[in-house]
Amino acid sequence: MKDSDCTIVNVVINRPLQKKFAYKIEGKAGVECIGSRVEVNFAGSNCIGIITDVNPEINLPVSKIKKAKLLDKTSFISEDIKKVLEFGSAFYQYPLGQCYNVALPKMLRDGKPFAYENIPAIELQSVPDEDALAKIRSQEQLKLIEILKNGTIRRKELRERGFSSQTENALIKKGIAKLINLQTEQKRFTEIELPILKENPPVPNIEQQNAILSITSTNEFGVFLLNGITGSGKTEVYLRVIEEVLKQGKAALVLVPEIALTPQTFNRFYRRFNIPVSSMHSALTDRERLDAYIDMQSGKSGILIGTRTALFTPIPNLGLIIIDEEHDSSFKQSDSFRYHARSLGIIRAKENNCPIILGSATPSLESVYNVKKGIYKKLDLTIRAGGASLPDFQIIDLRNEPLTEGLKTGVSETLEKEIGEETAKGNQVMLFLNRRGYAHHMVCHNCGHVFMCPHCDNLLTVHKGLNRLKCHMCENNIPIPKVCPNCQSDALFEQGFGTEQVSDYLKTRYPDIGIERIDRDVVTTKAQLESRLNRITSGKFQIVIGTQMLAKGHDFPNVTLVGILDIDSSLFSDDFRSLENAAQLLTQVSGRSGRGNKKGRVIIQTHHKDNLLINQLINPECSYLNIAEDLLKTRKNLMLPPYTYQAFILSNSSERITAFSFLNKLHSELISVLNKYSNIAITPVMSDKMEKQQNRYHFHMLVTCLSRKTLNMFLTEVRNIVAEQSLSQDLRFAIEVDPIIM
Ligand code: ADP
Ligand code: ZN
Ligand code: ZN
Repeated sequence: MKDSDCTIVNVVINRPLQKKFAYKIEGKAGVECIGSRVEVNFAGSNCIGIITDVNPEINLPVSKIKKAKLLDKTSFISEDIKKVLEFGSAFYQYPLGQCYNVALPKMLRDGKPFAYENIPAIELQSVPDEDALAKIRSQEQLKLIEILKNGTIRRKELRERGFSSQTENALIKKGIAKLINLQTEQKRFTEIELPILKENPPVPNIEQQNAILSITSTNEFGVFLLNGITGSGKTEVYLRVIEEVLKQGKAALVLVPEIALTPQTFNRFYRRFNIPVSSMHSALTDRERLDAYIDMQSGKSGILIGTRTALFTPIPNLGLIIIDEEHDSSFKQSDSFRYHARSLGIIRAKENNCPIILGSATPSLESVYNVKKGIYKKLDLTIRAGGASLPDFQIIDLRNEPLTEGLKTGVSETLEKEIGEETAKGNQVMLFLNRRGYAHHMVCHNCGHVFMCPHCDNLLTVHKGLNRLKCHMCENNIPIPKVCPNCQSDALFEQGFGTEQVSDYLKTRYPDIGIERIDRDVVTTKAQLESRLNRITSGKFQIVIGTQMLAKGHDFPNVTLVGILDIDSSLFSDDFRSLENAAQLLTQVSGRSGRGNKKGRVIIQTHHKDNLLINQLINPECSYLNIAEDLLKTRKNLMLPPYTYQAFILSNSSERITAFSFLNKLHSELISVLNKYSNIAITPVMSDKMEKQQNRYHFHMLVTCLSRKTLNMFLTEVRNIVAEQSLSQDLRFAIEVDPIIM
């Protein structure tokens, strides 16, 4: 190519470098190529870059600039995403090119074309007649036929709506439905002629109306904290606001925690609108992710529901962002680009001058604080929609309970009696214990030997059913030993009960009642979670025992009793967020009780009946927000976030000394520049709570600062200091701004 016939562009590359690099591409290109990919030769190897600027000012002769090959005709890093990534890179101290990399679907990162291939879908051969329908006995198949009457549907959507591929295949085999490859020249959602709504929604109650009006009456940027108790109809508010946004020809982005993406959630959206809905989450293939990305970029879908990374999907004419369960820690990425989707979501909404809704029954203290400061507007939903009432709370003082076999397994005599009475009435009981496995660990009674993971500073958890001792950090596991490796004694015993043990115990007590367990050991895929949740909803199981997997987003109308087995372990933790998390979790779990037309109860077992948090939780006069206000006061007194700003400076290495001395040296360097900054403090180097993880040693320093700006300036200097050093291959260094797990 001739130099006169090319365009100079700046490119970011997926390398730990803050710089942009100049390349030249063939032909005369304008700003339309910003956000497209190029293939470049960088430091001797070919890699993918993204164009960030056209015709930048550079001090090199054009002939010295290397060539790059333009890969796309379309630009998919839109202006607003570009701004979000630039902000995110500076705020979270992570190299820009690597932020871009996190924002792209894997197939685009790998250089695959920005284009659909075949999209497997199903449609009816012909609408079956009465006779044919009468022959079908499977309710699932009949339900599927009903849905297919509305037109062709992607198989991915059917999976999300809870249909198994067996159901689909059965209809195909019967000649009722057929598999097709969706052609991709679908319309833009704004050109669809059907009415926006597919179904008649319920009439909003007065609180919902107020919330909907507050949000839709402004077409401008604003952050709304939708604080609604569980079952108060938050999702219904989202759907109404989305409807208004769609009416204006704009699109909506809904972010949810991974765990909330159940068929119940999907169906609410898919059933409501004639406008196509796309989704992005971990159960998709790379291909399906890219399809959803193109759906949104090309305006074919009007709604995207997804987890954290869906935030970076290009959406022209974005009119609304929703962060559901905004307090959920899954919105924070905990490695590489350690961003919080709530913070970057707000930046994206600002860029688009559109509203953002943060919804939660138990908002984060950060959000409650921002309401106090007048930065967010709070909208309250205080009554349960559809008339269900709030549960009653009751405490079992464990000090007065006999030390029975049951109590050693987490179930007191009184609770056991209540479980018996409730199930005898035909109701369901849900027991909550945030500890999976059979027992927390194993001890030798003779010599005191405990079984640790050889790769981590972690006790091995006993899994009886699997006959393994397992490390919950690295999944390393061994058969349950019969004798102590230290003293050969066979007097080994287990300590600390987990969900498996509770479940086993209850099975011996209630052999005739179905008992279902839900935790990460028995539920590893979405399909497993769905089938278990369905079995619970169908009423086959009257007792459900589970971890926090149970706490979120599932509607169980027949649950009338929720038992909290071990609240005490979350009361005394050295993490300043543990009380906030406990209050959130308990409020969420309690929300599972009495969702239908039956009154619910929540029973909390504790050895600390007089604990303030417990008393607040059971006090009907005291809402979660009251608790949050109290916790905020403590945070203020202790100079903790959100009253101060924090960051971790982290290192890890397979050599303990490497990780430690690197940070220790950095610490002295930082102390010497610290006087340039005011109101900032840095701790000495400390081990992480679990120093050894998967054979790597982890250390950190904590920086605390009264000003966000100063903290950011300081961290930039930290990064520059480290950038000038040549680090050992094996050493990892990272900065984590606003850490949420201590
Ligand atoms: P949340 O998201 O706050 O948990 P949902 O939006 O899921 O609450 O509402 C809880 C239940 O109440 C759902 O079954 C929903 O269909 C129903 N619901 C919501 N709003 C109304 C309303 N205004 N009238 C009747 N039922 C409603
Ligand atoms: Zn021993
Ligand atoms: Zn381990």
